[in-house]
Amino acid sequence: MNAPFIYAAPTLTVEALKHSIAYKLMFTIGKDPSMANKHEWLNAALLAVRDRMVERWLRSNRAQLSQDVRQVYYLSMEFLMGRTLSNALLAMGIYDDLHHALEEMGLSLDELVEEENDPGLGNGGLGRLAACFLDSLATLGLPGRGYGIRYDYGMFKQNIIDGRQAESPDYWLEYGNPWEFQRYNTRYKVRFGGRVQHEGSKIRWVETEEVLATAYDQIIPGFDTDATNTLRLWGAQASNEINLGKFNQGDYFAAVEDKNHSENVSRVLYPDDSTYSGRELRLRQEYFLVSATVQDIFHRHWEMHKTWDNLADKIAIHLNDTHPVLAIPEVMRLLIDEHKFTWDDAFDIACQVFSYTNHTLMSEALETWPVDMLGKILPRHLQIIFDINDYFLKTIEEQYPDNWELQSRVSIIDENNGRQVRMAWLAVVVSHKVNGVSELHSNLMVQSLFADFAALFPNRFCNKTNGITPRRWLALANPALSDVLDEAIGRNWRTDLGQLEEIKPQIDYPAFIAKIADAKLANKKRLASWVAKNMDIVLDPEALFDVQIKRIHEYKRQLMNVLHVITRYNRIKNDPDADWVPRVNIFAGKAASAYYVAKQIIHLINDVANVINNDPQVKNKLKVVFIPNYGVSLAQMIIPAADLSEQISLAGTEASGTSNMKFALNGALTIGTLDGANVEMLEHVGEENIFIFGNTTPQVEALRKNGYDSHKYYDEDPELRQALTQIASGVFSPQEPGRYRNLFDSLVNFGDHYQLLADYRSYVDTQDEVDELYRRPEEWQRRAALNIANMGYFSSDRTIQEYADEIWGISPVRL
Ligand SMILES: *Cc1c(COP(=O)(O)O)cnc(C)c1O
Repeated sequence: MNAPFIYAAPTLTVEALKHSIAYKLMFTIGKDPSMANKHEWLNAALLAVRDRMVERWLRSNRAQLSQDVRQVYYLSMEFLMGRTLSNALLAMGIYDDLHHALEEMGLSLDELVEEENDPGLGNGGLGRLAACFLDSLATLGLPGRGYGIRYDYGMFKQNIIDGRQAESPDYWLEYGNPWEFQRYNTRYKVRFGGRVQHEGSKIRWVETEEVLATAYDQIIPGFDTDATNTLRLWGAQASNEINLGKFNQGDYFAAVEDKNHSENVSRVLYPDDSTYSGRELRLRQEYFLVSATVQDIFHRHWEMHKTWDNLADKIAIHLNDTHPVLAIPEVMRLLIDEHKFTWDDAFDIACQVFSYTNHTLMSEALETWPVDMLGKILPRHLQIIFDINDYFLKTIEEQYPDNWELQSRVSIIDENNGRQVRMAWLAVVVSHKVNGVSELHSNLMVQSLFADFAALFPNRFCNKTNGITPRRWLALANPALSDVLDEAIGRNWRTDLGQLEEIKPQIDYPAFIAKIADAKLANKKRLASWVAKNMDIVLDPEALFDVQIKRIHEYKRQLMNVLHVITRYNRIKNDPDADWVPRVNIFAGKAASAYYVAKQIIHLINDVANVINNDPQVKNKLKVVFIPNYGVSLAQMIIPAADLSEQISLAGTEASGTSNMKFALNGALTIGTLDGANVEMLEHVGEENIFIFGNTTPQVEALRKNGYDSHKYYDEDPELRQALTQIASGVFSPQEPGRYRNLFDSLVNFGDHYQLLADYRSYVDTQDEVDELYRRPEEWQRRAALNIANMGYFSSDRTIQEYADEIWGISPVRL
């Protein structure tokens, strides 16, 4: 539990909280306290806490409006916010007050916190980044808002059944969502389909179908400040409750079916991460977000200014990946078709307003939409996209006459693949800044994916290395370590993470290191007891906790981790009585439901775990655990308990990573490749304090170019060959010996696209160095402490300050 952080006289606050919780339970929820269940108590507590935040929220909104400052609107198809109650209590400094209030009412805050549904409105890193950014925007008092979709069903729930992933729907709204305000009066029509009608020079989009978007607002509290922000999520409603025509014809069911059809647009989050699936419903979702949001932004702007002339001065729209890129033609459409702007002026304004973050260079993740599909669903937008392309290609022709190859490469319409709209190209052409998310990724971005554009627009590209919020990822997730830090350097690191450097002089004192080690051990015990209770597996908290938790994806190379685990198992079997450093290998992560290989990898991890954990010769020297249903809440529990953080993607594939930062901030050492933000972590912590292995990006490329031959590694490395042969021959799947033959083939015979075999030896040897360091606990803890001390740069407060200064041009609101 955090040390008290008291603003008001505690008894007053506690009494007042007790009173409001009981009041909410009776008069808002309508329950007798003697009959209420945990969810009802939780909701009453949430409502009571929300009440205490509303006043400052209204004041913040008023200040934003009256000071007439430029605002940023952050558009994202995903927000992975995590639970609300504990975060709000922390932000307001009333954690202990509520704890006492509930205690006096016979309730446990810890239990209620665990009762809250964790809304999984995102897939992974991209959605979590958006959530960290909102936290930092609010904490820095910057004027802005998040916009997204209020999916009825978030990321699916993952169960592991007989070693396999099984998905079930996540109806996170089951007990209501007391944190949100539904805005019955903030509704916009979103139109699809129809056709474009030319009336002289005027263009009309007619005969469309309509869906209503309704706003649901959440308060985003800033930490230790009165500043707050808003996350506005859109839910779909059928625009005519029932189709009257059909109803009058007596076809009641068809009439209601239509309603269901329209509302499908916000029904469910697509569970694909780092892969693109070109489904029509997804396109509709993207436009649903964009259309409602742009109408809302324009409405707000008009209310404040009664003119469109200053639009580019007052608004900045940020596109989190290409998913909301249709906002570009949508803004141009409104300016041209509704507000009488010339085409050139509309284009210029759009360039000034928009900025875009690229999150991946991998081709399988780049969004493209078939021209036919876009034309069917958004005919007017398709026209505008063609106009933008014509205009752009004309400027290219002027600069580089007759360079058809260049024109074909930079064309927004890809004519070579059945006519597709390249959404990333559109974002680059109509924006003033495009950023990557780590130094390495931003450099690769202008050398590869956007090389042509970087030559055309040299000032458009920049880097904004990702960050994480220290409030959720240290203060909330790790009270034990937070207490140690508070005692050492005071509490201000929460809003100025650079202050962690001040622990450096104390790192030479064994007593300080011992406290950090004690905090780690306490967190490992907390995780071990959760695993014992929920999975019936006993973990030794003294063992080295080696953790890889993230989406399951071939490029992240969970399979290479498994190869190391098997190698370690084989070594133990060869010499069971040697002095092994005991390890617990922890995995967690979801596989996209249609991603066959990722699901195979999950199955293999569980099969390997089953064999190893039940082998009497192994005992406590090695345990393997796959924790199901990874999400923000599990991350908050697992990360503080990690000794070793696995960040082992193929160099050049992980744009940044953010869990790498969370782990190091919580005192884990990283084993990683020179990929994404690992490179900058190395620069900040120093090479003695991180385990770097494997090929670099240029080496990876050289292998690709010169004909990478994975079979060679298989032939030449006996330990690797043994592990692969065991997988292929069914040592871990005796019931079905051929189960992993395809995995084996993909590595050994079909090209090993992510070059696991090339990095295997250096990975395993580096894991041996990890063991050697773990045998020297003081030295291990000293290096862990240095990791903590050097993580200041990776606060999302730093990242957001850079966006504010260099991309959005916004400054804090005075309260
Ligand atoms: C931080 C986070 C991620 C991102 O993890 P990476 O290892 O950087 O891919 C994904 N999911 C959740 C729940 C997270 O908290």
